[in-house]
Amino acid sequence: MILDSFKLEGKVAIVTGASTGLGQGMAIALAEAGAHIVGISSGTMGETQQKVDRLGRRFLAIRADLTSTEPVEHIIDEATEHFGRIDILVNNAGIIRREDALNFSEKDWDDVIDINLKTVFFFSQAAARKFIEQGSGGKIINIASMLSFQGGIRVPSYTASKSAVTGITKALANEWAKFNINVNAIAPGYMITNNTAPLRADESRSSAILERIPAGRWGRPEDMKGAVVFLASGAADYVNGFTLAVDGGWLAR
Ligand code: NAD
Repeated sequence: MILDSFKLEGKVAIVTGASTGLGQGMAIALAEAGAHIVGISSGTMGETQQKVDRLGRRFLAIRADLTSTEPVEHIIDEATEHFGRIDILVNNAGIIRREDALNFSEKDWDDVIDINLKTVFFFSQAAARKFIEQGSGGKIINIASMLSFQGGIRVPSYTASKSAVTGITKALANEWAKFNINVNAIAPGYMITNNTAPLRADESRSSAILERIPAGRWGRPEDMKGAVVFLASGAADYVNGFTLAVDGGWLAR
């Protein structure tokens, strides 16, 4: 029956940036659907762990700095040792730097590209190798942005990274579909998290954004739940290389 194909019982999901915001929301969603969670973050994940524990799922926390690709192999090994397998990777950890393009520094360019793009690619590569070794396919879900489609203002490295995320989502889907690996992305709209705190604090930007959202409200981490569970599940087996917007209608304007 169709609703059964959304269930993730017995699956193991790695969620990067699981300490807060959208990553926390998606980790909880995947756990609600039945998955055990490997949470990765540079921050503490006690709150996410508690919420996953309460659902009766197991949570393995691995503290790592994803500005570099160096921890990636170790994370895959530790997750596999702990749970015996991995089935789902959500590449969510990401940062943003704001500055006029004319003054934008090389550091703000490199830091953002390293975590938002380079690590996403190499984490996907490491997970795909494991999925192929296990022989039962897998799901990779990258977190894109409205700035995968639009230019944004004062965030050039972020726009570059998120535009590239939709590109590699398609490229990897093309190469790995034959291994039953699905690579899709979710493009969140304007969501209430730490990432958007400066935007929400700026009254004129904040009201201009709100006015343009057809749903008439900013998004919340819970709004990601349906999309991430769908793309992580058997219900999405024939969906590949696609970026699904969860944006309250923003892109339709
Ligand atoms: P957030 O700042 O609340 O959370 C970011 C997460 O990434 C945290 O868990 C943090 O610990 C982790 N992280 C940051 N740097 C890290 C590093 N070097 N190593 C390991 N982990 C690191 O932000 P969020 O809004 O929840 O963002 C999550 C993702 O969603 C990001 O990729 C972001 O670009 C994307 N996104 C957010 C919005 C939004 O409106 N909030 C919109 C579109 C896309």
